[in-house]
Amino acid sequence: MKTSGENILGYNFSSSGETVFFAKNPATGNQLETPYHEATLTEINQAITLAENAFTLYREKTGEEKALFLETIAEELLQIEEELVAFCSQETGLPVGRLKGELGRTIGQLKLFASLLRDGSWVDARVDEADPNRTPFPKPDIRQMQIALGPVGVFGASNFPLAFSVAGGDTASALAAGCTIVVKAHPAHPGTSELVGKAIVSAAKRCDMPDGVFSLVQGASIGVGQAVVRHPLIKAIGFTGSFRGGKALFDEAAKREEPIPVYAEMGSANPVFVLPGILKENHQTLAEGLSNSVQLGAGQFCTNPGITVLPKTKESKVFEDVLKNSVQVSESATMLTEAIQKGYNLGLEKLKVKKEVESISTGKKTEGHSQGVAEVLSVSASDFLSDKELEEEVFGPSTLLVRTEDKNEIMDIAKNLNGHLTATVHGTEEDLYEYADLLKVLERKVGRLLINGFPTGVEVCHSMVHGGPFPATTDARMTSVGTAAITRFTRPMCYQNYPDSLLPDELKTENPLSILRMENGKYVLPN
Ligand code: NAP
Repeated sequence: MKTSGENILGYNFSSSGETVFFAKNPATGNQLETPYHEATLTEINQAITLAENAFTLYREKTGEEKALFLETIAEELLQIEEELVAFCSQETGLPVGRLKGELGRTIGQLKLFASLLRDGSWVDARVDEADPNRTPFPKPDIRQMQIALGPVGVFGASNFPLAFSVAGGDTASALAAGCTIVVKAHPAHPGTSELVGKAIVSAAKRCDMPDGVFSLVQGASIGVGQAVVRHPLIKAIGFTGSFRGGKALFDEAAKREEPIPVYAEMGSANPVFVLPGILKENHQTLAEGLSNSVQLGAGQFCTNPGITVLPKTKESKVFEDVLKNSVQVSESATMLTEAIQKGYNLGLEKLKVKKEVESISTGKKTEGHSQGVAEVLSVSASDFLSDKELEEEVFGPSTLLVRTEDKNEIMDIAKNLNGHLTATVHGTEEDLYEYADLLKVLERKVGRLLINGFPTGVEVCHSMVHGGPFPATTDARMTSVGTAAITRFTRPMCYQNYPDSLLPDELKTENPLSILRMENGKYVLPN
């Protein structure tokens, strides 16, 4: 499959910029053939102006029409599955099997949002009927529902080139909300982005969607992303990536004349707490499970368990030995980009120069470019507590074991944690009862709390929260995975004394869409 290297501006393609960049195959270090044209400021402005014009039409589409659009995108992606996955594998070094799974997730995500739209109740409709006889003042008729924000900017993530990129969770939730989109493609997989972008355009045409409902701008310098964030017609941003990048975009948005929300998911060390009782019973399987979770996808998951808090017991020695051995025999894997691989090594070096941190096991380095070698490091709880840098995400296949002397140290670690996406607690029933206070502390630190599992593997469903307090994200109230992600791109709108015929269908008195609503303070199921 060939790519053209152009930007997608609504239904047109454009490559007027002179700056070009190339993708690299991280497994070989070789540059791939297509030159990608970085979008110019004029092109970015064109894409966003089209998105604004398209918004006035797209926001009027019914839930059924938007659902069909999302399903048609899924259909278009499925049609190019073989070529897309092969192309993406070249750009990312990710194995074809993993990418097929990720495409399945992407398609499942689009279909899940389609089903949410068909159900329709997601708009959180509230109806307070008028009471003209109320004294001392008559009560007006007031109705409320969620409506779309406007054109939004989405940044593709490097580590999920399909599921968190051009047709990923941010795009699916924003389109479902009724927003039009301009995607800033991640420069590590520009060709994959273009192919997926073209599939979306083709779906948009098939579904008679307005020109500009979707655009894609390419760029290997931060200027392109900054221009999207600064543009006055953009009303929100979705981002997944580094703390540095996410925070810079958040700050940029705050400087605008009209500040806008930036939903940045910026990484996390996902602490895992192993409690004494379960350690006694299950040290072998727990250590093997942790080793697998740390190394999954070369550790390039935002939910990778980067910190493991372990009580010092007779069994913790065996646990460490199993973990060490499992990591020692593991083969390295190609990381997504040279920069990410260098960042991983730098992150490890930063830890290892500290005299209190010891590297206790390293995996095997195999031939090839951009290899991520697994590593386990350790530190005492007291040293961990005195150095905040030890809590930072090291993006790759490593974990830092924190050895604790007693429950007080475990509690101190939990209390002093920054915000993370997840925390995991391994414990027997008795452990969990005894450490109920630990769970309460962790509730204030993360968006998802797991018992006896591993945080890698984020289910796409209605109840998922993939978010958490700062610095894991810039808005702890939101999730970037699951159907609840839709509310990042909506706002509540209130209609007072509106004639029934002018109200959106969701709020009309007869409830023509048969959705769940709150009517005069009570949730009412449709007949
Ligand atoms: P990144 O550096 O945050 O870049 C992500 C996107 O944001 C890119 O499109 C990038 O554009 C843009 N960007 C970054 N800084 C910007 C700025 N100041 N202004 C405007 N746009 C900006 O992430 P990455 O390249 O994917 O990986 C780098 C590091 O991020 C990794 O080593 C890892 O530590 C972390 N990461 C974390 C997660 C996670 O889920 N926790 C996921 C991926 C990466 P340009 O590339 O054009 O600059």
